[in-house]
Amino acid sequence: MNKHIKHALVFIGNITWGLPMTIIGFLVSIFFMCMPKRFRKYCMITYVPCWYPGAWSMGLFLFIPHDCKDSVNLHRHEYGHTVQNAILGPFQIIIELMSLISFFTAPSKHSNRWFEKWADKLGGVERD
Ligand SMILES: [Zn+2]
Repeated sequence: MNKHIKHALVFIGNITWGLPMTIIGFLVSIFFMCMPKRFRKYCMITYVPCWYPGAWSMGLFLFIPHDCKDSVNLHRHEYGHTVQNAILGPFQIIIELMSLISFFTAPSKHSNRWFEKWADKLGGVERD
């Protein structure tokens, strides 16, 4: 599939079926209103202060720690969660909660969880 069509379909999924998480992402983005931003693939990426130890994605809103702003794979991974939201719609909240719990309770195993590997695949993450 042409990548432009894919990104447009992901956008449509995030403003329809996936709207609940996109609205939550929008509200969270207001909190980080003054932080630097970038727009890519119909998403708004906010570069957040590094006091929070990880990146996260809520619908069309991606939040990346400022010191990771050059990590292509991290951007791709978080976009993978945006694709998940287009697929799962309101059920994405379950993934978000599992991801949050996994990140804080077993950080060393976090990236091996099935929903994280799925986000890698959906976002096109390339690991060595
Ligand atoms: Zn993730």
